[in-house]
Amino acid sequence: MIRCTRCNYTMTEVKNEGGRTTRLLCSDCGHEISLSGGLLSFHPVLPSATGGGIDETLNEYYSKNEDKHFWFIARKDFIKTICDMYIKQSGKIIEIGAATGYITRHLIAEGYKDISIGDLNSDSFNYSDDKGIMNRYQFDLTKSPFVGHFDAVFMFDVLEHIDDAELSVKKACEMLTPQGRIVITVPAHMWLWSKHDALVSHKKRYELDQVVQLLRRNGFKILKATAFFASILPLLYLRKYIDKDTGRVSKADVAYRYKINPAVNRMLDKILHLECKLLNRVSLKYGGSLIVVGERLN
Ligand SMILES: [Zn+2]
Repeated sequence: MIRCTRCNYTMTEVKNEGGRTTRLLCSDCGHEISLSGGLLSFHPVLPSATGGGIDETLNEYYSKNEDKHFWFIARKDFIKTICDMYIKQSGKIIEIGAATGYITRHLIAEGYKDISIGDLNSDSFNYSDDKGIMNRYQFDLTKSPFVGHFDAVFMFDVLEHIDDAELSVKKACEMLTPQGRIVITVPAHMWLWSKHDALVSHKKRYELDQVVQLLRRNGFKILKATAFFASILPLLYLRKYIDKDTGRVSKADVAYRYKINPAVNRMLDKILHLECKLLNRVSLKYGGSLIVVGERLN
């Protein structure tokens, strides 16, 4: 269900033939949310959820590089592999903090039928106008209006941007149906912190056990917890020194961010493709990123 953001009463969803919500009505207080610019907007739109002008520029760079750069391609494949193992393609899913919608569009193309996206940041939606996305919800996760509404919640590289990760995971849990599942990815290990983290407004990088405990404290049992991007760990460790966080970032830092030698790009793509094939059989503790799947306990 979706609760009214004014009076907390259950809102009625008006849907079109494609199953897309066009209006939400509160029969108690009369509050109405209509589709506007393709969005269902619950909370005041902020220019940037992570509080910097660089974030808008980053989405632009992401949208230009996502189909080419090994990191984006491999990340997409890792996530798809895990989703195929734990998430039903017919389920009602939301990806929170979808950025350009790259992962969601890929999952839809691979057969997932009902994925919506949610974000507080209005800019993200500019890059995610694909028709295959079910609903586009602009809302504040910490005041989420969704209760028992989704079979799965995805948060891919979101928690590391949020001050109150505890509340965010608790709210994500409330959004799920009983036995609903959450899939989370975060950057791994503070000892890999580089300028890149500062540039993309990370608050922290996580250890696997921290994510596991975070989910357990907030109503989940763990189905899968592993690191990935393990095969490029030495390169990530080098980056920490080559691309050292000096405490200052500028928009100019973004410009060269995703430039890579094409041969190196192809090689890393191949290596990570192999690592991805191992992911369903092993669970690793160390890597560039972490992926954890939780199931709502009650
Ligand atoms: Zn109301």
